[in-house]
Amino acid sequence: MSHRLTQAQLDAHWMAYTGNRQFKKDPRIITSAAGNYYTDSDGRKIFDGLSGLWTCGLGHSNPAINEAVAQQVKTLDYSPAFQFGHEKSFLLAERITEFMPKGLNRIFFTGSGSESVDTALKVARAYWRKKGMGTKTKFIGRAKGYHGAGISGFSVGGIPANRTLYGQGLESYHLPHTQVPGSEFSKGMAEQGKERADDLLNLIMMHDASNIAAVIVEPMSGSAGVIVPPKGYLQRLREICDQHNILLIFDEVITAFGRMGAKTGAEAFGVTPDVITMAKQVTNGVIPMGAVAFKQEIYDTFMDNGGPDYMLEIPHGYTYSAHPIACAAALASLDEIKKQGLIERVNSMSSSWENSVHQLKEASPMITDIRNYGFAAGITIAPIDGEPAKRPFQIAMAMWDKGYYVRYGADTIQLAPPFTTEQSEIDSLINALGETIKQQN
Ligand code: PMP
Repeated sequence: MSHRLTQAQLDAHWMAYTGNRQFKKDPRIITSAAGNYYTDSDGRKIFDGLSGLWTCGLGHSNPAINEAVAQQVKTLDYSPAFQFGHEKSFLLAERITEFMPKGLNRIFFTGSGSESVDTALKVARAYWRKKGMGTKTKFIGRAKGYHGAGISGFSVGGIPANRTLYGQGLESYHLPHTQVPGSEFSKGMAEQGKERADDLLNLIMMHDASNIAAVIVEPMSGSAGVIVPPKGYLQRLREICDQHNILLIFDEVITAFGRMGAKTGAEAFGVTPDVITMAKQVTNGVIPMGAVAFKQEIYDTFMDNGGPDYMLEIPHGYTYSAHPIACAAALASLDEIKKQGLIERVNSMSSSWENSVHQLKEASPMITDIRNYGFAAGITIAPIDGEPAKRPFQIAMAMWDKGYYVRYGADTIQLAPPFTTEQSEIDSLINALGETIKQQN
């Protein structure tokens, strides 16, 4: 590929979640993006099969977001995040509550998904302490879960490759994942969710509810390769958390704002948690931003402290909390999602998406599972030489060469095209992927 970078420039950047040695041999450099396509430094158009990193459901370079950002830079580029406010943060907080389940109406702003998870977990501990239950400090996550790159996120996360290098994290236990043998190729939600959720009772029995602050799960696991909750699973987690006085946190960094064909995963799966973390799609990925929605009772617990006015209710926040440019981008992004009816569009196209991705099964016996929900799909590829990631990596690279960006992670290929994707684009993506998988050996 042609590009103008020197080896020294390439070497200077320690790239995130990237095989740096492999990348720097033949760098894939993006120069621009518009609509559902990137352009690379060879001038090739590349279909964005993962909406950035599950961020850009509206596609790239949306004129309304661009304009909102340009105006905001000129008007108020930054304001201190602490002790000052600016109007857009309040407008945005209220706008976000319109997308959240009823009752989750207090919004804390962060700079990323990882910070949102950190915020949710810290607030969960502080909440129990405020209520006189300070022993409730441990967390329960789930195998194959991804909750960001922070120390708290990797502790509750359950992807082994993200954990092993880092030693001891926060004290956390893990539910089994819900990718159950026998449920391969089930479209949408598999059966027997309630039984899987009962594993939470075992963990509570082992560690005692008086020590557990919260359970955190992605309603649909994204990074592990689109693992859809089986029927009744999230409902049963909710019941058990209620019975044992444990907060339930949904990490909706991927699932909030339309990916599921619903406002949130909570809405799609009909379960209301106590806390929802979000990021990515809130600004369409244009400016980094995260947020956490809390149910009002959690917020009120901190406001009822009876201390003097100058006392903080909770010493927590970030220099970039409610950054004005991010707020402007988010207001425009959420307006566009509404105006273009994109949640309804994803919902109505989700069954043709399902049919298209499940056609891949015919492409190769190497495909051992296909999962889907909303506008997302995970395709499991059989390992080669005992290495689960090898073939998915080769497939993703070959797809790039053909003009399609898809993500490989662990043993899967992940797809999450923009909400604006046309059926013809889905067809060509799936055809190219089927061909590419066939060509592997
Ligand atoms: N939680 C989930 C469910 C995620 O998918 C991600 C990012 N993929 C994160 C948290 C972390 O977000 P960020 O990379 O913005 O810190």
